[in-house]
Amino acid sequence: MRKQIAAANWKMNNTLEGGTQLLNDIISSGVEVNNNQSVIFAVPFPYLVSANQQLENSSNMFVAAQNCHNKTSGAYTGEVSVDMLASINIQYCVVGHSERREYFSESNQLLAEKVDRCLSKDITPIFCCGEPLAIREENVQNDYVAVQLNESLFHLDGEAIHKVVIAYEPIWAIGTGKTATAAQAQEMHAHIRAVLANQFGEAVAANISILYGGSVKGANANEIFSQPDVDGGLVGGASLVATEFIQIIKALK
Ligand code: PGA
Repeated sequence: MRKQIAAANWKMNNTLEGGTQLLNDIISSGVEVNNNQSVIFAVPFPYLVSANQQLENSSNMFVAAQNCHNKTSGAYTGEVSVDMLASINIQYCVVGHSERREYFSESNQLLAEKVDRCLSKDITPIFCCGEPLAIREENVQNDYVAVQLNESLFHLDGEAIHKVVIAYEPIWAIGTGKTATAAQAQEMHAHIRAVLANQFGEAVAANISILYGGSVKGANANEIFSQPDVDGGLVGGASLVATEFIQIIKALK
């Protein structure tokens, strides 16, 4: 089933105390998440265990890592493997966020390896794609995103791709307050679904959740999520404010 998903990306924000409070505020609001929806919190590594414990009794709410390493283990000081994530019952991991692509030089090929590592441990990769402003201005964003999908995901078979969640995040809309219009989001999401259908078949593509990311807030979530190919959002800034994120959860189809 194609889930509707509100995913919070805390990035490098919140202390343990602040993060615990934020999760508490959201849980205790009693916001309902039904079985065709998931709410996912991508928290910094040090809080994965405690956040998972906090969400233990909350239906359809999950914790995600924001990154993982592309190797299984070894001499990679400071890195975190998917085995470590699986050993603390983490079921989701953000892969290829544009900030990681930009500041940590993550290539499509490296991200293909991270996707494989996640799937090998039954961790759902939330695979991020999206174009920078210059590409949008040249109007070649469709090809740009198709290459990202091709180079990081097309080695998978129909069963494996089914476990991947895709997040389309135009880089020019991340943290800028400049959201893609609902029509721009729908156009790209339909394109992504068509690219997936071409590679994996219509039925598989129809079942993949495609999230929109880039300045999603309580005030614009309804309009963006109401688009037919938009299955929720990956939310940075607004996920750090309980009332905003609760409004975003409520906007899920
Ligand atoms: P933003 O970030 O909501 O602050 O634009 C989204 C993201 O980077 O995932």
